[in-house]
Formats: sequence, structure tokens, C-alpha cells
Amino acid sequence: MSGSAEPRSRPAGPILLRSGIVVTQDPTLRVLPTGDVLIEDGRIAAVAPSLATDGAEIVDCAGHFVLPGLVNAHMHTWQTALRSVAADWTLLEYFRHVHAGLATVFTPDDIRIATLAGALNQLDHGVTTLVDWAHNNPTPQHTDAGVEALKESGIRAAFFHGSPKPDPKPGEPHFSEVPHPRSEIERLRRGPLADRDALVTLGMAVLGPHYSTLEVSAHDFALARELGLVASMHQGGGEARTPGGWEALMARGLVGPHINIVHGNNLSDAQLRAFVDLGVTFSITPENEMAQGHGHPITGRLRALGAAPSIGVDLESAISGDMFTVARMALASQRALDNAAERARSGGIPATSTVPAREALDWITTRGAAMLGMSDRIGSLTPGKQADIAVMSPGALAMWPVHDPVATLVMQGSGARVRDVLVGGTFRKRDGKLLGPDVAAVRRKLAASGERILGRLDVPSVSRHVAAQ
Ligand SMILES: [Zn+2]
Repeated sequence: MSGSAEPRSRPAGPILLRSGIVVTQDPTLRVLPTGDVLIEDGRIAAVAPSLATDGAEIVDCAGHFVLPGLVNAHMHTWQTALRSVAADWTLLEYFRHVHAGLATVFTPDDIRIATLAGALNQLDHGVTTLVDWAHNNPTPQHTDAGVEALKESGIRAAFFHGSPKPDPKPGEPHFSEVPHPRSEIERLRRGPLADRDALVTLGMAVLGPHYSTLEVSAHDFALARELGLVASMHQGGGEARTPGGWEALMARGLVGPHINIVHGNNLSDAQLRAFVDLGVTFSITPENEMAQGHGHPITGRLRALGAAPSIGVDLESAISGDMFTVARMALASQRALDNAAERARSGGIPATSTVPAREALDWITTRGAAMLGMSDRIGSLTPGKQADIAVMSPGALAMWPVHDPVATLVMQGSGARVRDVLVGGTFRKRDGKLLGPDVAAVRRKLAASGERILGRLDVPSVSRHVAAQ
């Protein structure tokens, strides 16, 4: 697979998606109960109830949803071959068994196949932009394998380069004391990720004050800003490595719109307010946060400040990669918190829902685009933007009848119902089938990689699963 060329990024000619239920996520265009979407030169040329064909290739979308491709704002795609091995692990077990264990035996080829399979699965499920939070890069060869796999998949991706977190060997510093390697970021900027307009672009997956020293955080934040990159970091899970670190970083003027906080469950209201005021973005991963012990997702706390999260799957070693599922998890978890608060306050049921369902679609489209600083390019079916589009079948019965298209997508939607996917106007999935790499071969290599990795270490519950296969 390493020798495969990147799929062509330019479509042959104009394409007309005809007569779909068009959910644009554009504040002016909103929803067209029946509408056409014209694609030219990889971009959305027009959206209207009816458009002239002018020789365009016609794609019948009658009775189908046409929506912006989804944005998965946080996923460790390198863990795809470990699917469900962390199903019963808390954050502590996950750190011990994955980061200090399984992660240490990955070869570049393991990274390559996991990233390719994970990215293809995202495309298959209607995701057109993936934030690949890649933090198992012990060598440049691992890094390059991940980047090459993203390019091969055909997805739009931000490769967030991060460093691994093994237990230190004698004489080595702890990972929290190691600044992000400028040389590696500069190598990527000059080499494989030099083109900022390409499908795969660069970001930094840094440690931040929860997982590193103040000086490391300050170095990493300054480096990202100097290079015009987003710096994303996990926040939460156990005690902070640098208590008061955020306040110190803000005092140095290092916190701004280039900072993306993942999780953030343990942040104070005052901190959240300060971050929102500074333009910091947030990516939450509600299903994993609830399951692994992070705490409650901060969806409602951000809403109270006039902000909103982007959403990610986080770990396919634990949960499904379906963005509709995690969006519903975010919605339901916040409603549960609000309903419980109302019951505690008044003893009764709230008069109405606190969070409208439509907001969940924003979290996985426009908010994801904003997190990457790409709102001018992706996130909605706005003329001029990249033609990153998903077409979804309502299924035989599952999503029918459609009274409110947005509510139907959020509450009944599933990545399994995605029929077609275009990225930059090029079909990556059509009529229910992924185009591009041979999926059967990818499956075989992914399974072999997973068995090899799990076979290298005696991890509780894992060896039992493997033996049973
Ligand atoms: Zn994560």
C-alpha cells in the first residue's frame, strides 16, 4: 500500500445532486425539502430548489438526505486494529495497557494499516474531515506511514502530530518534560504536509499543562503559533502535571484561537469563560468521557457561555466510529444532566428540552470546521466551499417519514445509511461502496496487525479474546 498513489483530487466534470432533501447547515440556505446541489471544479457551485443541468453528471438523490460531510474532530486512528479491546477499561487501565503497553510495539506498518482502515471507515460513515490525533510516533517512519495512509484513503484530514507516552526507561526524561520536537514539525511542513491547500494538512497534538511542565507547554504553544498551526491537547483525567499552568500560560499571552482543548471536564467555570473569551476551541468525546471516567461532558457549560463543542469519536479501541452515535450521546448526556438538575430543584420534570436536537448536527459539521479554522472551506453546503458531501438513504423504514429533516438526521441517523460520499467533489463512496483501496485486503492486513500487536503483550482481558478467535 505504501507505493499507492494518492487518489486524484480533481473530478472530471460538473456533478448535479438532484432532488435531495438538502440540509445545508448554511444559515441562509437552511433546509431545502427538495433541492439540487451543483458541483463544479471540486466546489459547491449552487444550491437551489431546481438547477439547470448544463451537461452535468446527474446523480438522483430523490428521497435521500444531502448534507455536509461530517467532521470527526478527535480520533486516535492508529488504534483501529485494537477495536473494542478497551471496552471495559477506565482511563487508568487505558493508559497502562495502551499507552505504556500496546502502543510500544507498533511498527510503521501497524500505523499505516490502522490509519488507512480507520480513515476509510470514517468515509464509509459520512465523515469527510478527520482530525487524526496521532500520538504514537516514536520514529519519523511511524509518522510518515500515518500521513501516507491518510493521503491514500482520500479523506480530508488534519494530521495532528504527537509524541508517544511510554513509561521512561532508566536515564530517560518523563514524556511530560520533553518539548514537542520542532525538527519533526518542520520536516513535515517542508515535506509531506507542505501544501496547506491539500487534503491532508498539519496540526500539533501537544501535551498541554495537564500532561507536561509549564516550560514544555509554553514552548509548544509558542511553536504552534509561530508556525500558524492549531495546537490541540487533552485536558483532564487525574491530577494536572502543572497546577495553575493555564493561568500562567494565559498570563504569558500564549492562549488564543490556535489552542484546542480536548475533554476539559475538570476545568472551572472561570477557566472556561476565560478560554471562550480568548477564542479557544473545544473538542469533546462524550461517549468515552462518560465511560472511562473523565466526568460529564462540558456541552452545557459551553452553551451557557454562548459557545459549543466540536465532537470526536476518540477511541475505536473502545467505541464505534459512527459520528451520529457520539453526537446523540452528547445530546442525551446534556439533557440528562439538565433534567436531573431540574428534578433536584423542583422535584418535577422540566417543561421542555434544554438542548435542541439541531445543535447536535452543528457540533459534527460547522463546529468541527471552526475547530480547524476551516469554516471558509468546509462544514456547510455553501456555494464556494469545498464539495464535501454525504448522501444518506432513509433506509427501508428507519428514517421515514421525514417531518423535520434535521431532527430526523440527528435522532434517527446512522453512518451505516450513507450511500455516497464526495470529498472536494470527488466520489469516495458511491452507491453504497467505497471507492479506492481494496477493502478486503485492508481487512486482512488490519486483522493480522491487531493479532500481532495483542500477541506481543500479556494484557488482561485481551489475551483471552485473542485466544478465543
Ligand atoms: Zn483523545
